[in-house]
Amino acid sequence: MPPALELKDVSHTFGDLQAITGLNLSIEAGQVTCLLGPSGCGKTTALRIAAGLETLQSGEIYIAGNLAASADWGLPAERRGIGLVFQDYALFPHLSVVDNVMFGVTGNQDQRRACAMAALEQVQMAAHCEDFPHTLSGGQQQRVALARALAPKPAVVLLDEPYSGLDARLRDQVRDEVLHVLKDSGAATLMVTHDSEEAMFMADQICVLKDGKMVQSGPPESLYRQPISAFVAGFFGEVNMIPAVVNNGVAATVIGDFPAPDLGDNTAATVVVRPEALLLEKAPAACTDAHLGMIIQARLLGRSSLVHVSVTNTVPPSVPAELHLHARVGGVFLPAAGERVRIAVDQAQSFVFPLN
Ligand code: ATP
Repeated sequence: MPPALELKDVSHTFGDLQAITGLNLSIEAGQVTCLLGPSGCGKTTALRIAAGLETLQSGEIYIAGNLAASADWGLPAERRGIGLVFQDYALFPHLSVVDNVMFGVTGNQDQRRACAMAALEQVQMAAHCEDFPHTLSGGQQQRVALARALAPKPAVVLLDEPYSGLDARLRDQVRDEVLHVLKDSGAATLMVTHDSEEAMFMADQICVLKDGKMVQSGPPESLYRQPISAFVAGFFGEVNMIPAVVNNGVAATVIGDFPAPDLGDNTAATVVVRPEALLLEKAPAACTDAHLGMIIQARLLGRSSLVHVSVTNTVPPSVPAELHLHARVGGVFLPAAGERVRIAVDQAQSFVFPLN
Protein backbone atom coordinates (compact mmCIF):
# COMPACT_ATOMS: atom_id res chain seq x y z
CA MET A 1 0.00 0.00 0.00
CA PRO A 2 1.40 3.43 -0.88
CA PRO A 3 1.31 6.08 1.87
CA ALA A 4 -2.01 7.95 2.14
CA LEU A 5 -0.17 11.28 1.85
CA GLU A 6 3.34 11.96 0.67
CA LEU A 7 5.24 15.24 0.30
CA LYS A 8 8.42 14.87 -1.77
CA ASP A 9 11.13 17.51 -1.75
CA VAL A 10 8.65 20.37 -1.33
CA SER A 11 10.11 23.89 -1.34
CA HIS A 12 8.25 27.18 -1.25
CA THR A 13 9.13 30.87 -1.31
CA PHE A 14 7.16 34.03 -0.65
CA GLY A 15 9.13 36.69 -2.55
CA ASP A 16 12.62 36.60 -1.03
CA LEU A 17 11.53 34.47 1.92
CA GLN A 18 12.39 30.77 1.75
CA ALA A 19 9.39 29.45 3.72
CA ILE A 20 10.00 25.69 3.14
CA THR A 21 13.10 23.90 1.92
CA GLY A 22 13.20 20.30 0.70
CA LEU A 23 10.43 18.95 2.91
CA ASN A 24 9.79 15.20 2.73
CA LEU A 25 7.16 13.38 4.70
CA SER A 26 4.84 10.45 4.31
CA ILE A 27 1.84 9.33 6.34
CA GLU A 28 0.23 5.90 6.33
CA ALA A 29 -3.53 5.37 6.63
CA GLY A 30 -4.65 5.49 10.26
CA GLN A 31 -1.53 7.37 11.40
CA VAL A 32 -1.31 10.85 12.92
CA THR A 33 1.71 13.00 12.07
CA CYS A 34 2.31 16.37 13.73
CA LEU A 35 4.29 19.21 12.23
CA LEU A 36 5.82 20.91 15.24
CA GLY A 37 7.85 24.09 15.31
CA PRO A 38 8.00 27.73 16.38
CA SER A 39 5.90 30.46 14.83
CA GLY A 40 6.84 31.19 11.23
CA CYS A 41 8.74 27.94 10.60
CA GLY A 42 6.46 26.99 7.68
CA LYS A 43 3.99 24.54 9.24
CA THR A 44 0.81 26.13 7.92
CA THR A 45 2.35 26.69 4.50
CA ALA A 46 3.17 22.96 4.27
CA LEU A 47 -0.41 22.09 5.22
CA ARG A 48 -1.88 24.55 2.71
CA ILE A 49 0.31 23.15 -0.05
CA ALA A 50 -0.81 19.59 0.75
CA ALA A 51 -4.46 20.74 0.75
CA GLY A 52 -4.11 22.53 -2.60
CA LEU A 53 -4.87 25.93 -1.05
CA GLU A 54 -1.37 27.14 -1.92
CA THR A 55 0.08 26.40 -5.37
CA LEU A 56 2.99 23.98 -5.22
CA GLN A 57 6.17 25.63 -6.55
CA SER A 58 8.66 22.80 -6.32
CA GLY A 59 8.43 19.10 -5.43
CA GLU A 60 5.54 16.65 -5.60
CA ILE A 61 2.46 15.69 -3.57
CA TYR A 62 1.03 12.18 -3.77
CA ILE A 63 -2.30 11.06 -2.32
CA ALA A 64 -2.76 7.27 -2.06
CA GLY A 65 0.15 6.88 -4.48
CA ASN A 66 -1.36 9.15 -7.15
CA LEU A 67 0.21 12.44 -8.13
CA ALA A 68 -1.93 15.27 -6.67
CA ALA A 69 0.44 18.15 -7.48
CA SER A 70 3.78 18.88 -9.10
CA ALA A 71 5.53 22.11 -9.99
CA ASP A 72 3.45 22.68 -13.12
CA TRP A 73 0.17 20.97 -12.24
CA GLY A 74 -2.19 20.44 -9.29
CA LEU A 75 -5.55 18.81 -8.56
CA PRO A 76 -7.97 21.43 -7.25
CA ALA A 77 -8.39 21.33 -3.47
CA GLU A 78 -11.96 19.97 -3.64
CA ARG A 79 -10.84 16.97 -5.71
CA ARG A 80 -8.03 15.82 -3.41
CA GLY A 81 -10.27 13.89 -1.01
CA ILE A 82 -8.88 15.80 1.96
CA GLY A 83 -10.79 16.92 5.07
CA LEU A 84 -9.71 20.24 6.55
CA VAL A 85 -10.08 21.60 10.07
CA PHE A 86 -8.71 25.05 10.84
CA GLN A 87 -8.32 26.89 14.10
CA ASP A 88 -11.32 29.17 13.53
CA TYR A 89 -13.69 26.25 12.75
CA ALA A 90 -15.03 28.23 9.73
CA LEU A 91 -18.59 26.91 10.01
CA PHE A 92 -21.16 28.60 7.76
CA PRO A 93 -23.13 30.85 10.16
CA HIS A 94 -26.35 30.78 8.09
CA LEU A 95 -26.52 26.95 7.95
CA SER A 96 -27.65 24.61 10.72
CA VAL A 97 -25.18 22.12 12.17
CA VAL A 98 -26.43 19.26 9.98
CA ASP A 99 -26.47 21.44 6.85
CA ASN A 100 -22.89 22.49 7.60
CA VAL A 101 -21.84 18.85 7.81
CA MET A 102 -23.81 17.84 4.68
CA PHE A 103 -22.06 20.56 2.68
CA GLY A 104 -19.23 18.51 1.17
CA VAL A 105 -21.09 15.17 1.02
CA THR A 106 -22.32 13.82 -2.33
CA GLY A 107 -25.43 11.69 -3.09
CA ASN A 108 -29.14 12.37 -2.82
CA GLN A 109 -30.58 14.42 0.04
CA ASP A 110 -31.42 11.39 2.22
CA GLN A 111 -28.00 9.80 1.75
CA ARG A 112 -26.23 13.09 2.47
CA ARG A 113 -28.26 13.67 5.63
CA ALA A 114 -27.68 10.10 6.85
CA CYS A 115 -23.97 10.48 6.27
CA ALA A 116 -23.90 13.85 8.09
CA MET A 117 -25.87 12.45 11.02
CA ALA A 118 -23.49 9.50 11.29
CA ALA A 119 -20.53 11.91 11.45
CA LEU A 120 -22.33 13.99 14.08
CA GLU A 121 -23.02 10.84 16.12
CA GLN A 122 -19.31 10.08 16.00
CA VAL A 123 -18.47 13.41 17.62
CA GLN A 124 -21.50 13.28 19.94
CA MET A 125 -23.20 16.29 18.39
CA ALA A 126 -26.26 14.63 16.81
CA ALA A 127 -28.55 16.18 19.41
CA HIS A 128 -27.51 19.64 18.17
CA CYS A 129 -28.14 18.93 14.49
CA GLU A 130 -30.72 21.68 14.00
CA ASP A 131 -28.83 24.30 16.04
CA PHE A 132 -26.97 27.17 14.42
CA PRO A 133 -23.20 27.57 14.98
CA HIS A 134 -23.43 30.79 17.03
CA THR A 135 -25.45 28.95 19.71
CA LEU A 136 -22.65 26.40 20.27
CA SER A 137 -19.62 26.58 22.58
CA GLY A 138 -16.11 26.61 21.11
CA GLY A 139 -15.65 22.91 21.88
CA GLN A 140 -18.96 22.02 20.25
CA GLN A 141 -18.13 24.07 17.16
CA GLN A 142 -14.79 22.31 16.92
CA ARG A 143 -16.53 18.92 17.03
CA VAL A 144 -18.93 20.00 14.27
CA ALA A 145 -15.96 21.19 12.20
CA LEU A 146 -14.38 17.76 12.65
CA ALA A 147 -17.64 16.03 11.68
CA ARG A 148 -17.81 18.20 8.56
CA ALA A 149 -14.25 17.25 7.63
CA LEU A 150 -14.88 13.53 8.21
CA ALA A 151 -18.39 13.18 6.72
CA PRO A 152 -17.19 12.76 3.11
CA LYS A 153 -14.89 9.96 4.41
CA PRO A 154 -11.62 11.54 3.31
CA ALA A 155 -8.47 9.43 3.15
CA VAL A 156 -6.48 12.38 4.52
CA VAL A 157 -7.38 14.90 7.25
CA LEU A 158 -5.41 18.11 7.76
CA LEU A 159 -5.73 19.99 11.06
CA ASP A 160 -4.21 23.43 11.65
CA GLU A 161 -3.88 24.29 15.35
CA PRO A 162 -7.38 22.88 15.86
CA TYR A 163 -7.52 23.44 19.62
CA SER A 164 -5.98 26.88 19.91
CA GLY A 165 -9.35 28.57 20.37
CA LEU A 166 -10.24 26.38 23.36
CA ASP A 167 -9.35 26.93 27.00
CA ALA A 168 -6.90 24.50 28.61
CA ARG A 169 -9.41 22.16 30.28
CA LEU A 170 -11.69 21.90 27.25
CA ARG A 171 -8.67 21.46 24.98
CA ASP A 172 -7.59 18.32 26.85
CA GLN A 173 -11.06 16.84 26.58
CA VAL A 174 -11.65 17.73 22.92
CA ARG A 175 -8.26 16.55 21.73
CA ASP A 176 -8.77 13.22 23.45
CA GLU A 177 -12.12 12.81 21.67
CA VAL A 178 -10.70 13.98 18.35
CA LEU A 179 -7.83 11.51 18.58
CA HIS A 180 -10.26 8.60 19.04
CA VAL A 181 -12.52 9.79 16.22
CA LEU A 182 -9.57 10.20 13.86
CA LYS A 183 -8.19 6.77 14.74
CA ASP A 184 -11.63 5.18 14.23
CA SER A 185 -11.96 6.89 10.84
CA GLY A 186 -8.75 5.28 9.56
CA ALA A 187 -7.75 8.52 7.80
CA ALA A 188 -4.15 9.67 7.61
CA THR A 189 -3.87 12.87 9.64
CA LEU A 190 -1.41 15.73 9.35
CA MET A 191 -1.74 18.21 12.21
CA VAL A 192 0.04 21.51 12.75
CA THR A 193 0.88 22.63 16.26
CA HIS A 194 3.48 24.63 18.15
CA ASP A 195 2.64 22.80 21.38
CA SER A 196 4.97 19.85 22.00
CA GLU A 197 2.71 18.27 24.61
CA GLU A 198 -0.18 18.34 22.17
CA ALA A 199 2.02 16.80 19.49
CA MET A 200 3.13 14.03 21.86
CA PHE A 201 -0.46 13.38 22.87
CA MET A 202 -1.77 13.13 19.29
CA ALA A 203 1.06 11.91 17.11
CA ASP A 204 2.42 8.57 15.97
CA GLN A 205 5.15 10.60 14.31
CA ILE A 206 6.40 14.14 14.93
CA CYS A 207 8.30 16.25 12.40
CA VAL A 208 10.12 19.20 13.96
CA LEU A 209 10.56 22.16 11.61
CA LYS A 210 12.94 25.09 12.00
CA ASP A 211 13.21 27.89 9.45
CA GLY A 212 11.32 25.82 6.88
CA LYS A 213 13.53 22.75 7.21
CA MET A 214 12.80 19.46 8.89
CA VAL A 215 15.36 19.09 11.68
CA GLN A 216 14.20 15.75 13.11
CA SER A 217 11.31 13.34 12.71
CA GLY A 218 10.25 10.15 14.40
CA PRO A 219 7.96 8.74 17.08
CA PRO A 220 7.38 11.14 20.00
CA GLU A 221 9.42 9.07 22.44
CA SER A 222 12.49 8.99 20.19
CA LEU A 223 12.44 12.78 19.76
CA TYR A 224 12.02 13.24 23.49
CA ARG A 225 14.66 10.72 24.47
CA GLN A 226 17.14 11.22 21.63
CA PRO A 227 16.93 14.82 20.43
CA ILE A 228 19.59 15.62 17.83
CA SER A 229 20.10 19.23 18.92
CA ALA A 230 19.57 21.63 21.79
CA PHE A 231 16.79 23.19 19.69
CA VAL A 232 14.82 19.93 19.50
CA ALA A 233 15.47 19.11 23.16
CA GLY A 234 14.31 22.59 24.16
CA PHE A 235 11.16 22.30 22.12
CA PHE A 236 9.90 19.49 24.34
CA GLY A 237 9.68 21.64 27.44
CA GLU A 238 11.97 23.90 29.41
CA VAL A 239 15.59 22.75 29.77
CA ASN A 240 18.69 23.71 31.75
CA MET A 241 21.70 24.62 29.58
CA ILE A 242 24.96 23.89 31.36
CA PRO A 243 28.35 24.87 29.93
CA ALA A 244 30.88 22.07 29.55
CA VAL A 245 34.29 21.29 28.12
CA VAL A 246 34.94 17.89 26.58
CA ASN A 247 38.12 15.93 27.21
CA ASN A 248 38.74 12.21 26.74
CA GLY A 249 35.14 11.70 25.61
CA VAL A 250 33.68 13.23 28.75
CA ALA A 251 31.85 16.56 29.08
CA ALA A 252 32.78 17.94 32.49
CA THR A 253 30.29 20.28 34.17
CA VAL A 254 29.85 21.74 37.60
CA ILE A 255 27.11 19.18 38.33
CA GLY A 256 28.95 16.14 37.05
CA ASP A 257 30.46 14.39 34.03
CA PHE A 258 28.50 13.31 30.96
CA PRO A 259 29.60 10.90 28.22
CA ALA A 260 30.44 12.67 24.95
CA PRO A 261 32.24 9.98 22.93
CA ASP A 262 31.80 11.76 19.58
CA LEU A 263 33.34 15.10 20.58
CA GLY A 264 37.05 15.92 20.41
CA ASP A 265 39.28 17.24 23.18
CA ASN A 266 38.73 20.85 24.29
CA THR A 267 35.36 21.10 22.50
CA ALA A 268 33.13 23.70 24.14
CA ALA A 269 29.74 22.08 24.66
CA THR A 270 26.33 22.56 26.22
CA VAL A 271 24.78 19.89 28.36
CA VAL A 272 21.01 20.09 28.10
CA VAL A 273 19.37 18.76 31.24
CA ARG A 274 15.61 18.47 31.66
CA PRO A 275 14.28 19.84 34.99
CA GLU A 276 12.97 16.38 35.89
CA ALA A 277 16.48 14.96 35.44
CA LEU A 278 17.89 16.98 38.32
CA LEU A 279 17.68 14.91 41.49
CA LEU A 280 17.92 16.92 44.69
CA GLU A 281 18.53 15.87 48.24
CA LYS A 282 18.97 18.10 51.28
CA ALA A 283 22.68 18.24 52.15
CA PRO A 284 24.03 18.11 55.71
CA ALA A 285 25.86 21.31 56.73
CA ALA A 286 29.29 19.64 56.69
CA CYS A 287 28.81 17.99 53.30
CA THR A 288 31.58 18.79 50.79
CA ASP A 289 31.84 15.52 48.87
CA ALA A 290 29.06 16.17 46.37
CA HIS A 291 27.83 18.53 43.70
CA LEU A 292 26.15 21.17 45.80
CA GLY A 293 23.64 23.88 45.10
CA MET A 294 21.80 26.50 47.10
CA ILE A 295 18.03 26.85 47.05
CA ILE A 296 16.75 30.15 45.66
CA GLN A 297 13.10 29.24 45.98
CA ALA A 298 10.75 26.28 45.72
CA ARG A 299 7.11 26.26 44.62
CA LEU A 300 4.51 23.52 44.67
CA LEU A 301 2.89 23.24 41.23
CA GLY A 302 0.42 20.48 42.12
CA ARG A 303 1.79 17.08 41.16
CA SER A 304 5.38 18.33 41.34
CA SER A 305 7.53 21.01 42.92
CA LEU A 306 9.62 23.45 40.89
CA VAL A 307 12.86 24.18 42.70
CA HIS A 308 15.20 27.01 41.71
CA VAL A 309 18.79 26.17 42.57
CA SER A 310 21.94 28.23 42.26
CA VAL A 311 25.30 26.59 41.59
CA THR A 312 28.66 28.29 41.12
CA ASN A 313 30.03 27.32 37.75
CA THR A 314 33.69 26.35 37.82
CA VAL A 315 33.98 25.18 34.22
CA PRO A 316 35.51 27.40 31.49
CA PRO A 317 34.75 29.52 29.52
CA SER A 318 32.24 31.15 31.90
CA VAL A 319 34.16 30.86 35.20
CA PRO A 320 33.11 32.02 37.72
CA ALA A 321 29.39 32.48 37.18
CA GLU A 322 26.26 31.54 38.98
CA LEU A 323 24.08 29.04 37.14
CA HIS A 324 20.38 29.21 37.87
CA LEU A 325 18.90 25.73 37.44
CA HIS A 326 15.31 24.53 37.54
CA ALA A 327 14.57 21.12 39.03
CA ARG A 328 11.14 19.50 38.83
CA VAL A 329 10.72 17.13 41.73
CA GLY A 330 7.72 14.78 42.01
CA GLY A 331 5.35 15.52 44.92
CA VAL A 332 6.02 18.01 47.68
CA PHE A 333 9.69 19.02 48.01
CA LEU A 334 9.93 22.54 49.39
CA PRO A 335 13.32 23.30 50.95
CA ALA A 336 13.74 26.85 52.27
CA ALA A 337 15.70 29.56 50.47
CA GLY A 338 19.38 29.34 51.41
CA GLU A 339 19.34 25.60 52.18
CA ARG A 340 22.00 23.49 50.51
CA VAL A 341 21.17 20.48 48.32
CA ARG A 342 23.16 17.67 46.76
CA ILE A 343 22.57 17.51 43.01
CA ALA A 344 22.60 14.28 41.04
CA VAL A 345 21.54 13.94 37.40
CA ASP A 346 19.57 11.31 35.49
CA GLN A 347 21.88 10.88 32.50
CA ALA A 348 19.08 9.41 30.34
CA GLN A 349 17.44 12.84 30.28
CA SER A 350 20.63 14.81 29.67
CA PHE A 351 22.17 15.50 26.26
CA VAL A 352 25.56 16.86 25.21
CA PHE A 353 25.80 19.05 22.10
CA PRO A 354 28.78 21.00 20.75
CA LEU A 355 28.33 24.76 21.21
CA ASN A 356 28.57 25.55 17.50
P1 ATP B 1 2.47 30.01 12.97
O1 ATP B 1 2.70 28.94 13.99
O2 ATP B 1 2.74 31.38 13.50
O3 ATP B 1 1.14 29.91 12.27
P2 ATP B 1 3.85 28.68 10.78
O4 ATP B 1 4.97 27.81 11.21
O5 ATP B 1 2.55 28.03 10.43
O6 ATP B 1 3.61 29.83 11.83
P3 ATP B 1 3.70 29.82 8.14
O7 ATP B 1 2.36 30.45 8.34
O8 ATP B 1 3.76 28.62 7.28
O9 ATP B 1 4.38 29.50 9.54
O10 ATP B 1 4.67 30.94 7.56
C1 ATP B 1 6.02 30.66 7.21
C2 ATP B 1 6.66 31.97 6.77
O11 ATP B 1 6.07 32.40 5.54
C3 ATP B 1 6.46 33.11 7.75
O12 ATP B 1 7.64 33.90 7.76
C4 ATP B 1 5.29 33.89 7.16
O13 ATP B 1 5.38 35.26 7.51
C5 ATP B 1 5.50 33.68 5.67
N1 ATP B 1 4.22 33.68 4.93
C6 ATP B 1 3.21 32.82 5.12
N2 ATP B 1 2.21 33.06 4.25
C7 ATP B 1 2.60 34.11 3.50
C8 ATP B 1 2.01 34.85 2.41
N3 ATP B 1 0.82 34.52 1.93
N4 ATP B 1 2.74 35.85 1.89
C9 ATP B 1 3.96 36.17 2.35
N5 ATP B 1 4.58 35.52 3.36
C10 ATP B 1 3.92 34.52 3.93
